[in-house]
Amino acid sequence: MQRRARSWHRDGLRIAFVPTMGYLHEGHISLVHEARKRAGPGGIVVVSIYVNPTQFAPTEDLSLYPRDLPRDLFLCREAGVDAAFLPSDASMYPGEETGQFSTYVVEDRLSRGMEGASRPTHFRGVTTIVAKLFLCVQPDSAVFGAKDWQQAQVVRRMVQNLNFPIQVVVAPTRRDVDGVALSSRNKYLSPEERPRAVALVRSLDLCRKAVRRGVVAAPLLKARVRKEVSQYPSARLDYVEFFDPESLKPVRTVRRGSHMALAVRVGATRLIDNGRL
Ligand code: AMP
Repeated sequence: MQRRARSWHRDGLRIAFVPTMGYLHEGHISLVHEARKRAGPGGIVVVSIYVNPTQFAPTEDLSLYPRDLPRDLFLCREAGVDAAFLPSDASMYPGEETGQFSTYVVEDRLSRGMEGASRPTHFRGVTTIVAKLFLCVQPDSAVFGAKDWQQAQVVRRMVQNLNFPIQVVVAPTRRDVDGVALSSRNKYLSPEERPRAVALVRSLDLCRKAVRRGVVAAPLLKARVRKEVSQYPSARLDYVEFFDPESLKPVRTVRRGSHMALAVRVGATRLIDNGRL
């Protein structure tokens, strides 16, 4: 991959990169289209497909994570992707088994709350793999989804702090007809559970409405979200937070332009969503 990337750069081509864990859907493809714009005429769009073990906790769904490589490659080809990068565990974590993989990248502020609080080793895995993928693909720009807002901000911070010469682009969340954010994890939902996944987008909508009427105290909105989520059978609120969209600092008073993120378990499936209010 590095040899290829260097040769593309020598030919004066721009490389735009979309990192994914595969099981691609319209959300991923929208990032590919954004990458195509960034790569410019004749430029190169690279998609990586890698289910990164270090961002899953031992208790999480690594082995169950949905995979369909033939379909992913078909969708990539159809979307005009130039190269799919499919690294192996052995090439990403060489020496793992013998204890010779011991270097990680840690972003130590934005990673702490929300997803980081619920999944303590998650962002260490994300920043480590994204840094490694960046060094392999050597892109000029990399496109991330607003669906994982905190992740995008953490990656942006890492890029700034470590002087990666890469422009980080955040593209909007793509949603199903009922408003539910597209996600590979929606596949885990049973037919009875799937309609309950609207709990997240409904919570976002109700907070938007509340804020449209004026500023609101965060604890009050949190209580309303808790109530909303509890109305769906087998749905359980993991967290809801209101915060500044860039610093991710929680706000006590929620107003227009504040950002909201939440995680909800529907049965055994943990879903996240977020948006600007
Ligand atoms: P994943 O395969 O879940 O790791 O996601 C790979 C990239 O796709 C990340 O940058 C995600 O934020 C992005 N993504 C996932 N779902 C969506 C969506 N519904 N809309 C836009 N981007 C998404």
